[in-house]
Amino acid sequence: MLLPLADAQGHVLERVTALAPQRQRVMAAMGCVLAEAISSPEAVPPFANTAMDGYAVRAADTAGASEASPMLLPVVAEVAAGHPADRALLPGEAMRIFTGAPMPDGADAVLMVERTERLDGGARVALHASVAVGEAVRPAGDDLQAGDAVFERGEVLTPGHLGVLAGLGITEVLAHPRPRVGVLSTGDELVEAGRPLAAGQIRDSNRATLLALVAEHGWTAVDLGLIRDDEAAITGAITDGAAACDAVLTSGGVSMGDIDLVKVVLDRLGDMRWMQIAIRPAKPFAFGTVGERSTPVFGLPGNPVSSMVSFELLARPALRRMAGHSVVHRPLVPAVAAEDFRRHPDGKVHYVRARAERAADGVLHVRSAGGQGSHHLTAMARADALLPLPDGDGVSDGDPVRVMLLADV
Ligand code: AMP
Ligand code: MG
Repeated sequence: MLLPLADAQGHVLERVTALAPQRQRVMAAMGCVLAEAISSPEAVPPFANTAMDGYAVRAADTAGASEASPMLLPVVAEVAAGHPADRALLPGEAMRIFTGAPMPDGADAVLMVERTERLDGGARVALHASVAVGEAVRPAGDDLQAGDAVFERGEVLTPGHLGVLAGLGITEVLAHPRPRVGVLSTGDELVEAGRPLAAGQIRDSNRATLLALVAEHGWTAVDLGLIRDDEAAITGAITDGAAACDAVLTSGGVSMGDIDLVKVVLDRLGDMRWMQIAIRPAKPFAFGTVGERSTPVFGLPGNPVSSMVSFELLARPALRRMAGHSVVHRPLVPAVAAEDFRRHPDGKVHYVRARAERAADGVLHVRSAGGQGSHHLTAMARADALLPLPDGDGVSDGDPVRVMLLADV
């Protein structure tokens, strides 16, 4: 019996939990999930300052000023960002002021420089317009008041978040750590990159792909090496990996064959479930928890496309949950088939490697990315979307579909 994908995902997600939050340096926590609410310890901006270059004045002094009848005021000081005025502005005076400079005491508005004329080498200024109280002034606390709620638990730290935290003087936050994810390949036919191929050998591509996928998500990728099809070697590698990492990804050795040792080893080591999932590619999959910390081990299939699709559909959601995310699945977005996608009923959902292109009207048009064999890694590499074709005969050019985007399109 083939297992529906949602059941396989549910089985895995029930067995992983978010990693315990840790205090982290803000600058090292980009992309991590906040595990505490942040409130503002101070006001931002901390003092009233000017939003424009111009002249700080008392609004009342500018009443009636216009291009036709400018108001002439003496310029008594210059105030720049980081250089507050050393005295207050008195009635009938102006101060030259630059963006970000603190408003001088006594001033309540700024007239932008474009509406002024410098006279007498800067000793006086002609104001060509009047201003209202508060014009071009950013009051203290205009972005955040001390005590304001800033961010909630569960928010993902973006560059903007890091900037806000830096702006508040916060240097550490409680956040879920990045999962450390070990990756190993299994297979007697596999050769490390940079070595010559002997008869019957192929190069190990899955480890490169999976390590890069882990790193791409901001998680810590740990290379656990290329392991022979040997029960003791696989046992050692998985045991050590499970002790050193928060999760382990293996590839190969989970099919029906006698030498599919990963599933044998996982079964011995712990609570393993071997699944035949109703999808193509990536039908075989094994999931177990190993060692004292019940480290999740994802037994991904060996075929290069299958291991990537299996990562996307099964490992990625679980790793996102470990990283503290509440949204773990990629969305399916509406698109239109830009060619026929034919298939035959076989009880499985086919995940077609596809390229999505947004047309001028904003609609996503989806085409095949190339060869659809589970060894056609080049097409997978070029794909920026997976198009799930439900069991049946496929879809025709022009049909509405839903796609899972793997990249910005
Ligand atoms: P297996 O699941 O171990 O039976 O492997 C299925 C297919 O994927 C076989 O053709 C393997 O040679 C191939 N394969 C397994 N592991 C890798 C790998 N790390 N890199 C490239 N191909 C692999
Ligand atoms: Mg193998």
